[in-house]
Amino acid sequence: MIDVINLKKSFGDVEVLKGIDITINKGDIVAIIGPSGSGKSTFLRCLNCMEDPTSGQIIFNGVDIADMKVDINIHRRHMGMVFQHFNLFNNKTVIENIMLAPVYTRCQDLKKAKRKKLFGKGGADASLAGLTKEQIKKEEKEKAIALLKRIGLEDKADVYPSTLSGGQKQRIAIVRALAMDPDVILFDEPTSALDPEMVGEVLELMKQLASEGMTMVVVTHEMGFAKEVASRVVFIDEGVIKEEAAPKEFFENPKDARLKEFLSKVL
Ligand code: ADP
Ligand code: MG
Repeated sequence: MIDVINLKKSFGDVEVLKGIDITINKGDIVAIIGPSGSGKSTFLRCLNCMEDPTSGQIIFNGVDIADMKVDINIHRRHMGMVFQHFNLFNNKTVIENIMLAPVYTRCQDLKKAKRKKLFGKGGADASLAGLTKEQIKKEEKEKAIALLKRIGLEDKADVYPSTLSGGQKQRIAIVRALAMDPDVILFDEPTSALDPEMVGEVLELMKQLASEGMTMVVVTHEMGFAKEVASRVVFIDEGVIKEEAAPKEFFENPKDARLKEFLSKVL
């Protein structure tokens, strides 16, 4: 699904990613661990082009999205992102948070399809052009309610995020990502900002997604999650992948000296 080839990223003179190569297949759960400042967040942000890579390729579903000529918005919508600090829109209700991106992108598509139809360029999606904005909103609202039901928070649809606990906010952020039907979800330390008693409910939801076959890339300090849920664990240190292995091998038989040192501190 994603092929990262010799990905480099510098900020000014500082090279933060020094050549990352990794392949992420459909259904993979890739846990990324590593010391603070090693480039984990930068890597995730490059994956969905929130940061422009300095060089290298990111082949996503066959297209090099690191190529400046590619319209990244078309591809980015297939990648969900979940952040440490939730990044919900605080001036929007819970259900508005969930509906916003899918309604916006589908209405944009609708405009394009209508335009194509009007100007008879062919290839227009007639079924899409037959829809109305109101129908799209109605459909997305139903979907959002179903997602809220799934996490037992349907009674929170019309409240603002500030009234929610951290665990509730993060579970909403996760279903907000799901509302776009993404091919892959990128998680950047999704439990690091939570009070300890709320970590479990978020990890539980992530485990459910994993068992349903969602492709996930998870930067995490939760070694338990990496051990139990990940299909592969990756150690990033000083901007390079120092080790990559199945969890059992990774934790029981680490080879890289820096990884051994890191594990001795966190386990
Ligand atoms: P991690 O997520 O592993 O803790 P980051 O990817 O956030 O690490 O950061 C890696 C390095 O890149 C750090 O030294 C950080 O200061 C630097 N960095 C990250 N983002 C920027 C930025 N926008 N501008 C300048 N330096 C940055
Ligand atoms: Mg980080």
